Formats: sequence, C-alpha cells, structure tokens
Amino acid sequence: MLKEIKILADHGKQYVPDLRNQPVSARFRGRPVIAAEVSPGQVERAAAMCPAGAIDGRSGAIDLGRCTFCNECALMLPEVYRFTNDYRIAATRREDLVVMPGQADQLKINESAVRKEVRKLFRRSLKLRQVSAGGDNACEMELGASGNVNFDMGRYGIEFVASPRHADGIVITGPVSVNMAQALQICYDATPSPKIIILVGTDAISGGLFAGSQAIQREFIDTHHIDLYVPGNPAHPLTFINGVMDLLKL
Ligand code: SF4
Repeated sequence: MLKEIKILADHGKQYVPDLRNQPVSARFRGRPVIAAEVSPGQVERAAAMCPAGAIDGRSGAIDLGRCTFCNECALMLPEVYRFTNDYRIAATRREDLVVMPGQADQLKINESAVRKEVRKLFRRSLKLRQVSAGGDNACEMELGASGNVNFDMGRYGIEFVASPRHADGIVITGPVSVNMAQALQICYDATPSPKIIILVGTDAISGGLFAGSQAIQREFIDTHHIDLYVPGNPAHPLTFINGVMDLLKL
C-alpha cells in the first residue's frame, strides 16, 4: 500500500483537473487576433499567400473553418496576424468561425443556434459515434485522446461508442471522400433520432485543402443541420471537449 502511495506521489496528477481552464503551451496556435487596421496591400498579400484560401481578400478576416493553422500569415505579416493559445474556438454557426480584424474577444457559441432537445436529452449522457470520412487520422487521434486518462471527457458522460445504434450523434472528421459518402449516410441513418452532428477539423468543416476536389462528396454536410463546428488542424482535445461542454451547457 505504501509503495502504491509513493508511486502516486512520484507521478503526480495524471489527469487534467479543470478542462475549462487548462493552460497549454504558448506555442499552441488557437484563436487568431488580427490588427484592427489592415491596409489593402497587406490584405492582398496575405490572401494571395494563404494556402487554404482562409483569408478574405477584402477584409483580411480569417475563416477558422478553412484555416490550417500553418502560421504562414503570422510569419509574413507579424504586425497584422498572430495566434493566441486560446483553444476555445468551437462554434454552433458556420459564420461564427470568421475572425474579423480588431476582434479580440474570446469566441462564444451562439445560444440561439442550440436546439432545445440537445440540452434536454443529452446533458447528462452523450454517446457519440465517430466517422472518419476520408480523414488522415490526425483529428481521429485527438478525439481518441479526448477520452484518455488525461482529458477524460467521460467524467461528464461524453463518450464514443462502437455502434451508431447506441449513439446520440455522429462526429465527422475528414473532407468526406466519395468512397465514404454513402457510408456516412448509412451511419447517420442508423443513429436513432433525435441526434446531433459535430464536425471536427478543417477538412470536415470546409473540405480544407481538398475543397473543390472531384474526390470529395459533401452533399451530406451541405444538406444537414450541423450542431457544432470544432476547428483545428487537427482539433485539440480541449477544443473538442470545451465545444461539446458549451453545446450541452455543462
Ligand atoms: S494560418 Fe490559416 S489563415 Fe494563416 S496562412 Fe495558414 S491557413 Fe492561411
């Protein structure tokens, strides 16, 4: 017994005690901040350089649903673009993922976009089925980490399950390749109603670098109500967990 206590004391806490306020590395790239004044020339240069087409060519705003967080804009124009390590960047509306010049506040979910039944039914227990629809295993690994001993989202009743029959919703990663489009629909249909849809990662939200490719088929995304958008490339476990906690109002 004493030996076990000594091991526990040596190892310290293995879990994140407060998922809402966990400090992360200053080098982590989360919510961007854009200078309030951006000249047309700077906007033009940044938009032309951005490999993901995430920078608006008129305003200089960054669309987090397209951004790959590569940091190239901050390296090219450090006086205009910088990334904070704020990981709470999930949104309930697609348009809320656009960060405008001069916008310095923390991103918050739009409460009016949350369906009433979501909180009523899933607040105490939310089981999710993950669908990798042409994903590259990056977001998938981070989602796996969300349930490990460190992040332990299961403490709030949020867990991944093996079958859509046992799930309250689906979590989609990847740009939705043609080969996965039908499988995604089948998985969604197999999930009992009411159910939620969460998109995780740039690829799932916008198609990412694959947007416009003939190899992807995004009709499912375009024709269904999305309950939560979780940006990132890949999305951090804390971004996912905090986004779901905000959605459920935990
Ligand atoms: S960090 Fe985002 S907005 Fe900036 S260049 Fe990369 S993809 Fe574009």
